[in-house]
Amino acid sequence: MKKTIFAALAVAAIAPATMAENNEKFDYVVDRFADIEVLRYKVPDFENLTLNQKALVYYLTEAALWGRDILWDQNCIFNLPLRNALEMAYAGYNGDPNDPDYRAFEKYLKQVWFGNGIHHHYSMDKFVPEFSREFFRKQLSGIGLQPSSVAIFEDIVFNPDRVAKRVNQADGVDLITTSACNFYGGGITQAEVEAFYNAKKDTTDLTPVSYGLNSRLVKDSDGQIREQVYKMGGYYSNHIGKIVENLEQAKKYAENDAQRKTIELLIEFYRTGSLEKFDEYSIEWAEDTASKVDFINGFIESYGDPLGMKGSWESIVNFKNDKASHRTEVISNAAQWFEDHSPVDPRFRKDKVKGVSAKVITAAILAGDSYPSTPIGINLPNSNWIRAAHGSKSVTLENITEAYDEASHGNGFNEEFVIDQPTRDLLDQYLFITDNLHTDLHECLGHGSGRLLPGVDPDALKAHGSTLEEARADLFALYYLADPKLVELGVLDNPEAYKAEYYKYILNGLMTQLMRIEPGKDVEEAHMRNRKLIAEWVYEKGKPENVIEYVTIDGKTFIRINDYQRLRALFGELLAEVQRIKSEGDYEAGRNLVETYAVKVDPKIHREVLDRYARLSIAPYKGFVNPVYTPVYDNDGNLVDVTIAYTEDYPMQMLRYSRDYSMPIR
Ligand code: ZN
Repeated sequence: MKKTIFAALAVAAIAPATMAENNEKFDYVVDRFADIEVLRYKVPDFENLTLNQKALVYYLTEAALWGRDILWDQNCIFNLPLRNALEMAYAGYNGDPNDPDYRAFEKYLKQVWFGNGIHHHYSMDKFVPEFSREFFRKQLSGIGLQPSSVAIFEDIVFNPDRVAKRVNQADGVDLITTSACNFYGGGITQAEVEAFYNAKKDTTDLTPVSYGLNSRLVKDSDGQIREQVYKMGGYYSNHIGKIVENLEQAKKYAENDAQRKTIELLIEFYRTGSLEKFDEYSIEWAEDTASKVDFINGFIESYGDPLGMKGSWESIVNFKNDKASHRTEVISNAAQWFEDHSPVDPRFRKDKVKGVSAKVITAAILAGDSYPSTPIGINLPNSNWIRAAHGSKSVTLENITEAYDEASHGNGFNEEFVIDQPTRDLLDQYLFITDNLHTDLHECLGHGSGRLLPGVDPDALKAHGSTLEEARADLFALYYLADPKLVELGVLDNPEAYKAEYYKYILNGLMTQLMRIEPGKDVEEAHMRNRKLIAEWVYEKGKPENVIEYVTIDGKTFIRINDYQRLRALFGELLAEVQRIKSEGDYEAGRNLVETYAVKVDPKIHREVLDRYARLSIAPYKGFVNPVYTPVYDNDGNLVDVTIAYTEDYPMQMLRYSRDYSMPIR
């Protein structure tokens, strides 16, 4: 599971002044095109790692970069050949750089790089080219392509009906044949896929593997359906071989036996393609909480598959931020206190609660499905029985959230939407820490709190389950953010600090998150619904006492919070109700909450938010370029250092990756 920037979007407007001063020389913003801003992130303290740790990081980053083409190919079968053609034409272009067709062509290529293919990374829609067909044909002929190949590429790029959507989630259609992703070969239907995997599944197995995770499903000419497994000697053997080669190097620098074993198991998985091996690896990985350097590498999240089985390839290499991790450890250790004092009916509390192991990390490389667009929080492994039996690791990528904050400093968001200077000052001073704390409380405690009454079906809330679950975790975090306990634990230094997060949360839930919704549409995404549910509910319940108020200044709408303590009590009341709904499996009440508060948008305020936001011209989506790591050897060929540089711009990095980490697939 991953937490994306959308959850933290409104935060991205603010950064503590001190941080900005320290970072004056660092250029966070690298590129801007279409709806995208490309940033750079710092890797603080890389220089302070030991040589062994640096070497470990280096080889893991190489193993990370070698998976790029696997992901491109998973996203759509045409992505790699088209990328090749586009990059050749781009490199070979010698016409007028100000030609509007060329500018549009460059923009398109930048979008394709960002989407790891021809579809938008978030909307999943195919990019629409703004250059002419004539220009496209001329460039592709110019690199020596035959007219028949040019015609094929032209149809892929320009025909709006061809591979229109990467992942289709629409109701009532064949999700496989209407999705452009390449986890399933041509001619295969959703019914066939489901029959294939249902036949494999043993419903009595208490420790099932993640069926289909590391393979592509194809139909042979004789109608037989079979899996092409990603492994050495199998599908994408060459790339996996390079990943393994670098993991072998990394293994030599492992920090301890547990980590060495983790890397060995991952190598075994890549050699055999065995999903049992992948589970062994995941367990070993989840239980290694002692190592400083850590990484994920493999077929992890399944958002790219409309049926949610196939894993998109990704990798993130990171090391622990010890200072910031102290915060999450303190919170996790106090888990029982929080549970015992929660405002829910004692029948719904857990007698024994265990805080999730959580740490704050510094990302050293982002790759595959986590690049350029990246999560800010990750909780793995995904396998339910492994999570239950062996726990999971929850991480926050703090150098990434810092980069978001820094890059958006002074983008005008706060001036436009926050009611007055004292509130803006409050946000400047305390939003970064309270927002991080909100995430910690949500992840380490919120989801794990409470219990179902005996016999209640965990899926009783059906389609509203994830919205209500996110609401529960958010409310738990909001309620405790204002608790003196946090000051007592030493994670906050001011009992008033929570007001920063409260203000941002309400502003976001009532107004600013609407900038992600198209005019006339409802709120659909679970996290957005949850935030709207909470904000609208406390607004309505607090109305008699004027707890939260809409204020109009110079024709613009603002939010004012008049009574923060009362607001906290309302969060507590709603937490108690949402916990009751979950504990009792009260579907009707849950549905009622969601339908009343979380879905419908007031068109007037929506229009206003869209207009005000548009004038700020802030890119809705952000992603990152990676730093460049270079090994340094002495005269005898011994590795003596690894240097880090923040030198590459966006096209440079993309072209280098295509050049250095690409090869024939078999
Ligand atoms: Zn959550």
